[in-house]
Amino acid sequence: MRPYDVLIVGSGLYGSVFAHALRQIGKRCLVIDRRSHAGGNIYCTHKEGIDMHTYGAHIFHTSDKDTWDFVNSFVPFNHFINSPLAIHGNKVYNLPFNMNTFYQLWGLRDPEQVKLKIAEQVKRAGISKPHNLEEQAISLVGTDIYEVLIKGYTEKQWGRSCKELPAFIIKRLPVRFTFDNNYFDDRYQGIPIGGYNRLTEGLLQGVDLQLNRDFLAERDYFSAMADHIVYTGPIDAFYHFKFGPLAYRSLRFEEERLATDNFQGNAVVNYTEKSIPFTRILEHKHFAFGTQAHTIITREYPQAWQPGLEPYYPVNDEANNKLFAQYRHLADQETRIVFGGRLADYKYYDMHQVIASARVRVRQFIAKNYSL
Ligand code: FAD
Ligand code: UDP
Repeated sequence: MRPYDVLIVGSGLYGSVFAHALRQIGKRCLVIDRRSHAGGNIYCTHKEGIDMHTYGAHIFHTSDKDTWDFVNSFVPFNHFINSPLAIHGNKVYNLPFNMNTFYQLWGLRDPEQVKLKIAEQVKRAGISKPHNLEEQAISLVGTDIYEVLIKGYTEKQWGRSCKELPAFIIKRLPVRFTFDNNYFDDRYQGIPIGGYNRLTEGLLQGVDLQLNRDFLAERDYFSAMADHIVYTGPIDAFYHFKFGPLAYRSLRFEEERLATDNFQGNAVVNYTEKSIPFTRILEHKHFAFGTQAHTIITREYPQAWQPGLEPYYPVNDEANNKLFAQYRHLADQETRIVFGGRLADYKYYDMHQVIASARVRVRQFIAKNYSL
C-alpha cells in the first residue's frame, strides 16, 4: 500500500483547493512544492507590519457567489477596489479606460463626443475586424489611448510587438463610458484581511506538506508515494519538452523600504512608457489601508523566461496554443495523473478561475475514484 492516496505537486491555489476537498473526505494527501513556502504566486511576505504581495499585485475578484463564499469561509476580505493609475510623461491617467481617462487625455466629458472621437480614430486606422492586440486595442479605445497607455506597457510586459500578441489580453480591461475607475467589472472584490497566507493555511490545514522538493528532480521517488498525482507545474517540463518548450514571460521584483508613510498614494501605479524598464510600482500597505509610519514598494520588471526563472505568464498566441494542444493530448491519456492550474493548463487564469476549475475537477475526481 502506498503511503498517500494523492500526491499534489504544487501548493498554489489549484493544488491547495484540490488537497482541501480530498482531506474533507478523509483521503491522505501529500502536497509538495519546489519553493520554500506554500501558496504559489499568492504568497505574502509579512514585513514590519505590512503584507507584501511577493509575486506581484493580487486582487481577488469574481462574480461567482459560490467562489466568493468559498474563499470567505477561510478568511474575511476587506473592501479594497483596484483603481490603478497610469503615468506617461509627467501626466497621470486613471485606469481602466473610462470617462476620467478620456477627459484627462482629450478634455471631453460628454460620453457621446468620446464615442465619436474613438470611432473617428478607428475609421482612420482602417480596422474592421481586429486580428491582434494592436488592432483590438485601437478598435476599443482609438489610437491616442493605444499610443499613450497601451503600446509601451504591453511591449515591455510581453517583450514583443502588439501586432504579434493575441487580442484577448487587452480585452481583460474594461472600457467604460462612465466615470468609474474600478479595474474590474466583477460583483465581489477585495484582499484577505491578514494576507493571502491565511487562505493557503486554511486550505492546507491538516494536509502533509513538504517544501523545497522538486517533483521533476525526484520523479520516481514521489510517483511511488501515492495512487494518484495532481500536477500543477509547467506541462512542457513534465514531458521533458518533447515537442519543444512553451513560451512564458517572467518577472523580476525589486523591493524598497522607504521612511515615508505614503510614497505614491495608491496601491498600483503603472508606467506606460517603454523607456522606463518596469511596468508598475506597488505600494503594498494600500492594499490593506495600512497606517504604518514607513512603506514598502515593489517595482515589477518584465523579463524573458529561461530555465531557472519563474514562468509567470503563459504566452497564449496561436503557435504556443498549438504546441500546448500536443502536450494536452498526452495528458488526456494519463490514467493516474490530473493536470491543472495556470502552468499545467497553460492558461492566463485569475485566482477565481483557478479555484473554480480546481473545484470542478476535484468533484469529478472524487466521483470517479471514490464513489461507492
Ligand atoms: P501557482 O500559484 O503558480 O502554483 C504552482 C506551484 O507549483 C508553485 O508554487 C510552484 O513552485 C509549484 N511547482 C511547479 N513545478 C513544480 C515541481 N516540479 N515540483 C514541485 N512544485 C512545483 N489573479 C487574480 O485573480 N488577481 C490578480 O490581481 C492577479 N495578479 C497577478 C499578478 C501576477 C504578477 C501574476 C504572475 C499572477 C496574477 N494573478 C492574479 C494570477 C494568479 O496568481 C493565479 O491565477 C494563481 O495564483 C495560480 O495558481 P496555480 O495554483 O495555478 O499556480
Ligand atoms: N495594459 C496596458 N496598459 C496598462 C495596463 C494594462 O496596455 O496600463 C495591457 C497589457 O497588455 C497587459 C494587459 O493589458 O498585459 C492586461 O493587464 P492586466 O492588468 O490584467 O495584467 P496582469 O495584472 O495580469 O499582469
